[in-house]
This record gives sequence, C-alpha cells and structure tokens, in this order.
Amino acid sequence: MNSYYLWTIGCQMNTADSDRLGAALEELGVQQVEKAADADVIVLNSCVVRQGAEDKVVSNLAWMAPLKKEQPERIVALMGCMVGPKSDELAKRFPYVDVFMRPQQFEPLLEMVGERLGVDWEGCIGPLAPNRPDISCHVPIIHGCDLMCTFCIIPYRRGRQVSRPVEEVALEVETLAARGVKEVTLLGQTVDAYGYDLPGQPNLVDLFTRLDRVEGIERIRFLTSHPKFMTQDIIQAVADVPKVCEHINLPVQAGDDGILDEMRRQYSRADYIKLVGRIRETMPDVALNTDIIVGFPGETEERFQQTMDLLAELRLDKVHCAAYSTRPGTIAFRTMDDAVPEDEKTTRRQRIDQQQEEIQTEINGKLVGTYVEVLVEGRRKGKWQGRTRSHKLVFFEDEANHLGSLVQVKIERSSPWSLSGTLAVEAKLLNPVSPEINRGED
Ligand code: SF4
Repeated sequence: MNSYYLWTIGCQMNTADSDRLGAALEELGVQQVEKAADADVIVLNSCVVRQGAEDKVVSNLAWMAPLKKEQPERIVALMGCMVGPKSDELAKRFPYVDVFMRPQQFEPLLEMVGERLGVDWEGCIGPLAPNRPDISCHVPIIHGCDLMCTFCIIPYRRGRQVSRPVEEVALEVETLAARGVKEVTLLGQTVDAYGYDLPGQPNLVDLFTRLDRVEGIERIRFLTSHPKFMTQDIIQAVADVPKVCEHINLPVQAGDDGILDEMRRQYSRADYIKLVGRIRETMPDVALNTDIIVGFPGETEERFQQTMDLLAELRLDKVHCAAYSTRPGTIAFRTMDDAVPEDEKTTRRQRIDQQQEEIQTEINGKLVGTYVEVLVEGRRKGKWQGRTRSHKLVFFEDEANHLGSLVQVKIERSSPWSLSGTLAVEAKLLNPVSPEINRGED
C-alpha cells in the first residue's frame, strides 16, 4: 500500500479537502502518483452542484471498475458532495467502491489504509496542511451552511455550519507560512458568517486580526460571502487590516426580487445595491465579484432583464454566470418546474458574459499606465504571472526568479481577463522560496 491517486472536481473547498487528504496519506507514507492504474489507493473527490459535474464523476467512476477487478486489494474511495448521509444507494450502484466519505470526512479511508499498513493512523497524523503548497493556498474555515437556498444541494451534502476555532486556523496558516506560502484564501460557503456557531462567537474580523500577525503571510483573501452576513465591521476590517485584500466575492445570483424570493436568498435587489454602495463608500477601489444563475424556474425575459440591468448599473469586476441545473432533493427540485429551455439558458448566459466583457474591458483599461503590486505565483508561457490585491491577473517578463515575490509592475496592456506590463522595481524581495513550494512552471 505505497501509492495514491487523487482526482478532484468542483470548488476550491474540494481542492482544499483533497490537498489535506493527500497530506494525511503522505504522513502514513503513501506517495502520490499521476495515474490511477499505478495507485494502490484511488480517491475520487466529487461535486454534484450541477448535472454536468455529476456526469463527469459517474463516467470516471466507471473507469475504476476494471482497475479494481485487475487488482482486488486496491482501495477505491468516493468522497465529496456526491456522498450524502445515506450511501446505500451509491454502494448498490458502484459495488466496486470500498469506502464512501462525505466532504471532509477522511477517517473511514485513513482507518482502512492504517489497517492495511498495520499502523494506528490517528497516532501518525498531525494538523493537516498541504505538504507541497502553492504560493497562494486555500484554507477552509467553515464547513457546511445554515442557509437553505432553494436551488442548492450543499446543505444536504456538507451539513450545517461548523466553524474551525481561530487558533486551529492560525496554526494551519503558520504551518503553511513555514512551507513558503505567501497568501491564504479563507474558504466557506458563507465565509462572512464565520464564528456564529463558536463559543464566544469570534467573527471574521477577529480571524483577520489574528492571521494578520502571522509572519511570512503577505496577503489574506476570503470567499464566498453572503450579503446577509456582510456587516459594516467586516467591510471596515477589509479596508483597515493591512494584509486583507480589497477584493470581495459577493454572489447576488439574480436581479429580480421575485426570483430572489423563490431562491430564498433573504435579501432584495435594493438591499444588494445598498450593500455594494456601503462597500464602495468604505473602499472606492475595492474589487467586487459576483455569481449569477440564469434560467431559474419562473425566470421570464422581463425578470432576466432585471439581472442584466442590475449588472449594467453596478459594473462589477467579475461575474461567474451559470445556467440553473435542477438538483434532486433540493426545494426547487421538489416544488418548481425547470421550464426555461436549455438553449434559452445558454443564450442568457452568453448575453451576461458579453455585457460583462465590455464592462471588464473598461475597468481593466483604466489600469493602463498605472503601477500595481503583484504577488508572483508562477510562470505561464515563459512569462511570470501573479495577482494584484484586487485579484487582477498580471503577466510580465523578466530573467530573474520572482516566484513568491511582491513586485511593482507598470501596466501597459489590458484585456477583459488580464493585464500585462513591465517590472518597475522589486518592491520587496520576500524570504527565498522554500524547496517545498510548488514552482508552478508551465
Ligand atoms: S448560501 Fe445558499 S447557495 Fe450558498 S452554500 Fe448555502 S445554501 Fe448553498
């Protein structure tokens, strides 16, 4: 039992879970391999947020059957949001899968591997943090969600909100900093509701302040927020806490009040506009991203136009737009008719993307001629790449090794998706990058 293969699909939370499971297996002496056929332990980390994602998981699972047949002692595991509270149905459908694990529930697999290796896994594994992290690393701070948006499967799969204690998160971030990480992104489904369930109710501001003191970490980001929990204290802390970047991911999902009601988002169009106004009043140069679902049951052309108009009015930095995909078990699946034709959903998504491309062209165009601070994360096509504090992607060319450095770049060209320019001065040469760091070379 020497090798493992990990396949991951879905959100940053899934990627973070896979990194931590990989770290645990490596602490048991099991090494990562690139191909499933070469592995003694195969783990598929699944996502079912949309039908397309679920289909990919099912087709990959089918590949595992012959691999299990050829080597019966091989362990095949399915993890993530495809695994609900009851996995009997899944066990019938995929009899060659040995272990089913809900999101973040690594124990059943570690137990099985420990038994095979004849070791007590609990005695072998310390606080989980990726062993070979990138310069920028995701850190889950909340698991699950207490809201029940009618289109969403996540509360059924990840359960109720559970926040990790401040010092537990701080210990993980200190471990990552020691491994060369310069930026952490704090993850949660409603990350701004952090701490509500903890004794003494520390909140996101308390966590920002604690992590701001971690040496070696230069930047802190957080996602995904929910308008209901975005308090003025959090907004002010984003402005004031030095390492917290002025970049907020704030899904609105739709621009029509009727649709927002049926989604049970717990805010109105006017509430959202006011909130964006408060954020921009506090930080005029803040970058705001949002998520949109098009084609939700009952979305007429008039209601869709409300979404287009809202985005045209707010001119946000980035919009992630997805077509509504009905999820078995959700309130919308049980009570609403998914009547908007798929091709109409596609057309609406394209209309939003096109409008947003024009907005981003203008927003990024304004940065030409300015100097921006960039945290260099790696190389792509022979150029260094990194991000500004407002999460803009920047490319520049230079001979020297800038990986993990904060540099000043003079922006000379822009597109809706990225910026490019020339290195101004080395603003601050951070500690040399430690060997563990993933060099991100293309
Ligand atoms: S806030 Fe709504 S959309 Fe987000 S995870 Fe919770 S239930 Fe799902």
